[in-house]
Order: sequence, then structure tokens, then C-alpha cells
Amino acid sequence: MKRIHLRPNNLKLETAFIALGANLDQPELQVEAGIRDLAGLPQTRLVRRSSLYSSAPVGYRDQPDFINAVAQIETGLKPRELLEALLAIELRHGRVRDFPNAPRTLDLDIALYCSLTLHEPGLTIPHPRMHERAFVILPLAEIAPDTVVPGHGRIADLVRNVDVTGMVKFAGVQKSE
Ligand code: AMP
Repeated sequence: MKRIHLRPNNLKLETAFIALGANLDQPELQVEAGIRDLAGLPQTRLVRRSSLYSSAPVGYRDQPDFINAVAQIETGLKPRELLEALLAIELRHGRVRDFPNAPRTLDLDIALYCSLTLHEPGLTIPHPRMHERAFVILPLAEIAPDTVVPGHGRIADLVRNVDVTGMVKFAGVQKSE
């Protein structure tokens, strides 16, 4: 019988980096489950992931510390499709949008999408302010120091200028490669 290929051979995969954060309902487990959910997205492969980090909240400070990580994926999803997929994962994790910088069960942001720069309503890539946020730059420096943030330079250079006060890297995280 003739085989049907559901995935076109010429599907172009792009590298993207997803920043994950959580500070409610067992946040370590939320982030680990979020990484598994990323790996399960259509036309998507998890390439590597960072350790878990904890960070003090930014903006609204009267809330628990965050658990953060970054995942590198290869995906055939276009940026807007990827964003929709991330929002669907957040919803499945019970995310409620109360107010800016509110506590959250799981937050997923497209930090980088290949070397793309995009400013559209509801979608900005690279993610705004990621280059100055230790909870994104530190995990990125662990897994992709040579990657360039368009307009801001190499991660390995950016990491020297971010304020890492309150950031703790968790030891002994299992790599899911
Ligand atoms: P928050 O979850 O509070 O970080 O905000 C999520 C909203 O930010 C989403 O509804 C998106 O429309 C918007 N947004 C803009 N740029 C990005 C990006 N690069 N990644 C994820 N969300 C983004």
C-alpha cells in the first residue's frame, strides 16, 4: 500500500526560544510540564532546555518568587501560529490574566524566532525587554550563548550587563534531550 506522508518534506523548521515563568500551583512542575507541552506541539521539536532558575518578581512585588527556564525549539509554526499555541498551553495550565505582572500558573513568551524582528499588534519579537531581564538572559546564556538578540547583540555579552540579584539556578535538573 502506498504510504501517505502527513508532513511535507519541504517543511521549513525555524529555531525559536521560548521563555517560561510560573509562580503559582507548584511552579517547578508547571514549568516542567510547559516544556513537555512545547515538545508536543505540532511540527515542533524540543532541541534543548535550560535549568530551572528562581527569580524575584518584577513590577508587582507582593507575590511569590518565579521559577523560570528557556526552551529552544525547532518549529514549522509561523510566529503568529506559535503565539496562539503558547496561549492555548497557558490556558490549559489555568492561567488567568488579572492585571499586568500578576502571579501566574504559567507564562510562555516567544523570546526569539530565528533572527526575526517583528512589531505587530499583540506580537513583538524579540520579546520587549528580554535583553535586560536576567530571568530570560541567564537561562539563554546557559543553552545558547552565541545566539544574537537582533538589535542588542550576543547573549554572552548581554549576560554581563544584566542585574542577577535574586536569581538562583537550581542544581540537578534533568535534561530532557
Ligand atoms: P503576558 O502573558 O502578560 O506576557 O502577555 C501576553 C501578551 O503579550 C500576549 O497576549 C501577546 O499578545 C503579547 N505578546 C507580545 N509579544 C509577545 C511575544 N513575543 N511572546 C508572547 N506574547 C507576546
